[in-house]
Amino acid sequence: MHGKLRKNAGAKMSDAEIGLIGLGVMGANLALNIAEKGFKIAVFNRTTQVTKDFYANAGKLAANVVPCETMEALVGAIRAPRPIIIMTKAGEAVDQTIAALRPLLKGNDIIIDAGNANFRDTMRRFGELDGTGLTFIGMGVSGGEEGARHGPSIMAGGTQASFDRIAKVLHAISAKYKGESCAGYMGPNGAGHFVKTIHNGIEYADMQMISEIYGLMRDGLGMKAAEIAKVFGDWNKGRLNSYLIEISHKVLSVTDKKAKKPIVDIILDKAGQKGTGKWSVIEAQNFGVNASAIEAAVDARIMSSLKAEREKAEKAYKIPKKKLKVTSRAAFLKQLEGALYAGKIAAYAQGFAVMETASKEFNWNLPLGTIAAIWREGCIIRSQFLGEITKAFSKKGGNLLMAPAFAKMMQKDHTSLRAVVAQSALSGAPAPALANALSYFDGYRQSRGTANLIQAQRDFFGAHGFERIGEEGAHHGPWAMNAKHD
Ligand code: NAP
Repeated sequence: MHGKLRKNAGAKMSDAEIGLIGLGVMGANLALNIAEKGFKIAVFNRTTQVTKDFYANAGKLAANVVPCETMEALVGAIRAPRPIIIMTKAGEAVDQTIAALRPLLKGNDIIIDAGNANFRDTMRRFGELDGTGLTFIGMGVSGGEEGARHGPSIMAGGTQASFDRIAKVLHAISAKYKGESCAGYMGPNGAGHFVKTIHNGIEYADMQMISEIYGLMRDGLGMKAAEIAKVFGDWNKGRLNSYLIEISHKVLSVTDKKAKKPIVDIILDKAGQKGTGKWSVIEAQNFGVNASAIEAAVDARIMSSLKAEREKAEKAYKIPKKKLKVTSRAAFLKQLEGALYAGKIAAYAQGFAVMETASKEFNWNLPLGTIAAIWREGCIIRSQFLGEITKAFSKKGGNLLMAPAFAKMMQKDHTSLRAVVAQSALSGAPAPALANALSYFDGYRQSRGTANLIQAQRDFFGAHGFERIGEEGAHHGPWAMNAKHD
């Protein structure tokens, strides 16, 4: 049946166990992953040629694929009650797809949005399907193309019952960490997409901090790409072992054939973004949680996009670039390793604090230990470090900085972070995520801060009142300009 697509419902047997709409990068790979695990899958794509090409290139797996030319045919090809994954572009495309599907579905069918939805859209979609008999699952899938094909990390949100109905497929296709599935139930309605959003926010911080460390080696120590690659390669054998360090090592090792230079040296220093980092920061602010290292990473991408302005500003300021003042390169590299580790602890502490607060706010009961566990494999931030976080949250919630294992590490490594941030400031090399991670740590472990002055200022100009140490109630100061409050 190569090349032939099902056009309408009912003509053939409904024997597919699951359906998938949207055969782009993620959808096509996820569909092959599902077919490979032995589940018969019906697929549909808005542009029919894409479905034809997908089917023609599916090789042996085509035996488990039912290619469909219409949504009616897709629905007709799946055994009821039907689970249908939507893996299209996020946003309007998902609303349009749900609208087209709804009249074709019956009670108990499950619509699964597996794209990078804003969790507030997911919550709205839950509301819209409420009472229709249809069930909705908002599911974050991480790991990019490779993950989708061979095992992603999967964060599902919805009812426990609907998750249970598709759990077999999800556990089969997910990444495995020492045999444990990296697919998990996060909680009701928007919980899965929320967790995926924060995953991406942490990913921004992780990537930015690695880039800052790279910048200090490149500009501060004058190291060549190959030398930096070696450092990352060595670190990847230790406690910083992670996918992002591994790929940083790999990309820094590649030579561009055309320019005959390291490929990183011919790539423009301008990074794009699609929105999940920004959403993490917006939600952190909405919940009143400090996520400054994540925010600094999002801001750094914004700054990176101002290439032309930065070029002008560098000329205008004519501040000579300074090399880092280090007595021993080997010792400083060790400090860089410690700084990156400490920075990571602070950034993850922030991401998990945002999730903990959102969980209370929405009554989600997010399983923080399970979240760390399902991020150990399959996703972009997978790392050895997440194994430590899993252990920390299995014992107790609360800020990661207070988990005994992390407190012990931070006790030692904050000095490296401090030295590196100080060096970066003195040399003029920006390291915003590391600097914010340090400020977060310093602010968090300071029992007497400086907000007493903020309280006084607010009372002075706005009669907002202040709390006195050891006394209940609001008080006002004897400000001359505000005498009515004497
Ligand atoms: P992609 O390769 O650009 O594919 C987009 C898919 O969406 C295509 O199948 C396209 O169909 C379909 N589509 C677009 N607008 C549509 C509409 N109005 N109605 C119906 N279908 C529509 O995208 P992708 O990278 O696979 O991403 C899919 C989702 O996964 C997104 O939410 C993305 O954020 C998320 N995600 C991506 C990655 C990644 O690494 N790429 C990782 C995790 C999550 P046509 O062929 O007809 O255009």
